[in-house]
Amino acid sequence: SVNLNTALTDSAIVNSVIPERKDEFNKGNCGKVAVITGSEGMAGSGCIAAKASLRTGSGLVYIAAPSSLLNIYQSVVPEAVAIGLPDYNGIISELSTESILKLLKKCSAAAIGPGISTGESIYNIIRDIAENVSIPLVLDADALNVIAKDIGILNKFHKDVVLTPHPGEMSRLTGLDISYIQQNRIEVARKYACLWEVTVVLKGARTIIADKTGEIYINPTGNSGMATAGSGDALSGIIASLIGQGASVFKAAVAGVYIHGLAGDIAAGVKGIHGLNAMDIAENIPCAIIRTT
Ligand code: AMP
Ligand code: MG
Repeated sequence: SVNLNTALTDSAIVNSVIPERKDEFNKGNCGKVAVITGSEGMAGSGCIAAKASLRTGSGLVYIAAPSSLLNIYQSVVPEAVAIGLPDYNGIISELSTESILKLLKKCSAAAIGPGISTGESIYNIIRDIAENVSIPLVLDADALNVIAKDIGILNKFHKDVVLTPHPGEMSRLTGLDISYIQQNRIEVARKYACLWEVTVVLKGARTIIADKTGEIYINPTGNSGMATAGSGDALSGIIASLIGQGASVFKAAVAGVYIHGLAGDIAAGVKGIHGLNAMDIAENIPCAIIRTT
């Protein structure tokens, strides 16, 4: 039976999800996150996601991306370990599959999809990840767009998966019109979270977070300044970081969306809703966490 609980996220819930940081911790206690990302012209996505993971407290962040773009990641996110994957025309090639699977097996969570493109090699890699990897995964952006071409792939994943579609991506995944999705946000998120047995984060003003049981949280933070390219990449990095530090996928999604919106609100207080850029969200995560805890 479907859980019909529907609540507004508040700071108390978020506070209970922020990982404890014991005095004696070293980076090995704070989660290893992999960001599988990148294609020519889209390197920024992975930079924002990786920076967001680090600002959320991850002990170690790996960026696995086309080797031709490696210098970009190393320059923009020096704190991350960048792993160059074989690429073909600026897109991760299937020759990367083995290294990606090996990397994922040593991580505690991963964000997959920002800026990765939708080529056939990406579809095959995502399918191999579904069949072979059992760490919790945040699937975003082009990972969702390739899954939309073959929704059956979703059954192959083990169940600890968070999908973070914006309404356009949700439309591709479900075949529903964007206007229908937007008029029925709670019902649509709940229905597909239950059907696919994953956590669905339906983004946009008042993001809906739906658990595979049907439970719903509605997010009160965020602002229209976040309607800017790269915003969502920061969110996937935050959620993966919280999971990597030990939170359950649903709670990480609920808390991650709240922190992401609050970071955006803090950034908008300084930059305004017009000047706010996605990296400002990543850079204000620390302040959002301080305010919540
Ligand atoms: P994406 O389209 O993948 O870059 O994701 C955009 C991110 O910004 C999501 O987390 C949205 O919830 C958030 N966002 C976009 N527009 C708004 C808005 N008008 N109010 C609040 N959050 C928004
Ligand atoms: Mg996006």
